[in-house]
Amino acid sequence: MDFALTSEQQRIRDRARQFAREEVAPLAREADATGSLPRQLIARLAELGLLAGPLDTAYGGAAMDSLSFALVCEELGWADSSLRGFLTVHAGLVTMCIRAWGTDEQRARWLPRLASGQSIGCYCLTEPEAGSDAASIQTTATADGDDYVLNGEKIWITNGTIADLAIVFATRDPAARHKGICAFLIPTETPGFQRERMPGEALGHRASDHARITFADCHVPKSALLGEPGEGFKVAMSALDRGRLGVAAGAVGIGQACLDACVEFARARRQFGQRIGDFQMVQERLADMAADVDAARLLTYRAAWLKDQGRPATRETSLAKLFATEAAARAASEAVLLFGNRGYSNEYPVERFYRDIKGMQIYEGTSYIQRVIIARDLLGKEE
Ligand SMILES: Cc1cc2nc3c(=O)[nH]c(=O)nc-3n(C[C@H](O)[C@H](O)[C@H](O)COP(=O)(O)OP(=O)(O)OC[C@H]3O[C@@H](n4cnc5c(N)ncnc54)[C@H](O)[C@@H]3O)c2cc1C
Repeated sequence: MDFALTSEQQRIRDRARQFAREEVAPLAREADATGSLPRQLIARLAELGLLAGPLDTAYGGAAMDSLSFALVCEELGWADSSLRGFLTVHAGLVTMCIRAWGTDEQRARWLPRLASGQSIGCYCLTEPEAGSDAASIQTTATADGDDYVLNGEKIWITNGTIADLAIVFATRDPAARHKGICAFLIPTETPGFQRERMPGEALGHRASDHARITFADCHVPKSALLGEPGEGFKVAMSALDRGRLGVAAGAVGIGQACLDACVEFARARRQFGQRIGDFQMVQERLADMAADVDAARLLTYRAAWLKDQGRPATRETSLAKLFATEAAARAASEAVLLFGNRGYSNEYPVERFYRDIKGMQIYEGTSYIQRVIIARDLLGKEE
């Protein structure tokens, strides 16, 4: 068993690390406070070949393997989960989903633009009455001559107000559940496609763009179908399988960032005449955090490696997402405590990590839903 990265994987990780530490991290606090991603960072992701990393070079991508893409997400997660979330949706849920399911024409039209950042993508599945139970979506797609007409509402759509292209899931027949679902590629300027920012202030990912999108007699041609009619649920789940790897890797980045911050602070902060890191109770927390980060990383790399071997990885990806997000939540909670009053303020990033990680336990399938997926695989269907 070889745990070493290839020289190409190291090169990609180093490039992403340098970008994350030198360009992303210094802007993260302000982006969080002002509630918007610095657009120049998206342009830089494209310049560095990170915006569509896993996409083939023929379409403008960098043809990275899944492990390299996970390394990019880990490094971005270390610095800023809002930017990492942007990338996971744009590249994992949208670009690679079109690569997998699109016609030649759809690929030629959209992939080069998504790879260059000329177009930004969003993924519209969640609705007010359909979250974990995605097969229960109510947004309808009604055939009308050469068109489909969409009506309904989506919520919490990352990149929703800045996107140029949306993958939208709608049903031809709500009673048919997953069998009725179709996926559509819809330019966001299409008449009847309306969007606004989600109301309220989010707990974390505050620099991300989260939208409520409504479809009011939104006409799209049948050529906008992504996959066959009725295949939309498969399209949605295959995208989430890719996206979850990026979320797991982003959580490894948060865990590592918490560990780095805590080690530095435990060396510097003195109380009772000694470094707080010399107290055994603090050492125990640091050691547990280090073990958690390593375990989360290994689970995530294994899921990526399986994908790169072309082997099934759904259960392993859920194991990685579950463990890495829960471990990072533990790390962020400990980090806020260890930093004392400083951890309670946005002057130090651990406060932001603590808020951001909660979102990662929820989106792309909550921690409970990851457990459902894992347990289903363990138990199989009743004979
Ligand atoms: C920051 C953020 C970004 C997001 N971005 C997107 C996006 O880009 N596109 C998109 O489509 N959606 C997005 N979402 C929505 C997200 O995917 C959903 O919130 C998530 O799937 C959970 O759905 P829900 O919130 O409706 O919770 P519900 O499904 O209503 O669940 C409520 C609770 O019940 C639990 N539960 C439900 N079913 C079960 C079960 N079978 N067993 C055990 N427990 C269960 C859940 O785990 C949860 O704790 C985003 C959400 C957030 C917070």
